[in-house]
Amino acid sequence: MTALLKDSYNRPIRDLRVSLTDRCNFRCFYCLPHGEPPMAAKEQMLSYEEIEYACDIFVELGIEKIRLTGGEPMMRRDIEQIIFKLAQLKERTLERPHPAGGSRASCAPGLRDLALTTNGYFLPHRAHSLKEAGLDRITISLDSLKRNVFKQMTGVDVLDRVLEGIAAAKEAGLNPIKINAVIVRGHNEDEVADFAAFAREHDVKMRFIEFMPLDSGHDWSRDDVVSGREIRQRIEERFPLEALDVVRGSETSTRYRFADGAPGEIGIIAPVTEPFCGACSRIRLTADGQIRTCLFSTVEYSLRDVMRDGGSRGEIIDFIESVVMKKEPRHYINDPGFVAPSRSMSFIGG
Ligand code: SAM
Repeated sequence: MTALLKDSYNRPIRDLRVSLTDRCNFRCFYCLPHGEPPMAAKEQMLSYEEIEYACDIFVELGIEKIRLTGGEPMMRRDIEQIIFKLAQLKERTLERPHPAGGSRASCAPGLRDLALTTNGYFLPHRAHSLKEAGLDRITISLDSLKRNVFKQMTGVDVLDRVLEGIAAAKEAGLNPIKINAVIVRGHNEDEVADFAAFAREHDVKMRFIEFMPLDSGHDWSRDDVVSGREIRQRIEERFPLEALDVVRGSETSTRYRFADGAPGEIGIIAPVTEPFCGACSRIRLTADGQIRTCLFSTVEYSLRDVMRDGGSRGEIIDFIESVVMKKEPRHYINDPGFVAPSRSMSFIGG
């Protein structure tokens, strides 16, 4: 299948991350350490109808995977409604002429995967309703298995509730469950092998993420980054790993199984020490309707304004295609003149 949306480096764009809100009930020190700056007015945020319309167009343009994120996406009360609407995009057969005209016909494969990233706080009571609404998969953030470290890293004392949320997601059938842990020097690097044990015990896919310069406090330092290589070494000291025999494609993680055949999986996401920009297939839509072509973009493009100014479907498509052509070749974290984006991960949509 030839991708419809391609950037100027010929990278097919197939993944869309949609931030449902920039609000969050956690205060992770690597993201929103000082709390939220004044919130954008509600009218600036995309309504669920606008999100649905935008996603419908993105899917027509070849987006196959949508991940809902935030902020904390479950703080949005209409999340089940949004999931229900987006899940319907999976069922639609897309064989329609390209509305912008011309010779190109749209034969997008359609939406294959609808996922959510959450801190897990609301899952104990709502995992089932997410599943019923049509969610395929869930990723839950969990930065420590120790109550005091969890509290210190996230700003909230709710480890047990998040663990309950993981159990509820499993019980609801939101499989496979992925667990994200951002590993930061001096905080939780000593827990890496414990997380691997957790993956084995609970049969989940553990994802270890290098700390990136996306914190609103702009306190990131290279010294705080625990490299993917070190993470792997720490796991292998206790549990030998074997690389999974899969084509990595545009996936962010390098994936491993346990050599002894135990359940669970390990994935290492190393954007700082082993960038994977050459295969990047992602773009992002912020809660206030801005398209970002890279996590580290310093510019945004207002899809919201084009939609609200009465742009036709064809004009919106032209806009999206022109924005995608501006996607950066790579991030510049490792360059001397690197400037971190002004918005933190919670605003960009992780
Ligand atoms: N609130 C949800 C959650 O906690 O998963 C979704 C949004 S959160 C911004 C998405 C992911 O981004 C989380 O797994 C979080 O750990 C990760 N993240 C946030 N800031 C980061 C940073 N500076 N470096 C690496 N990962 C980060």
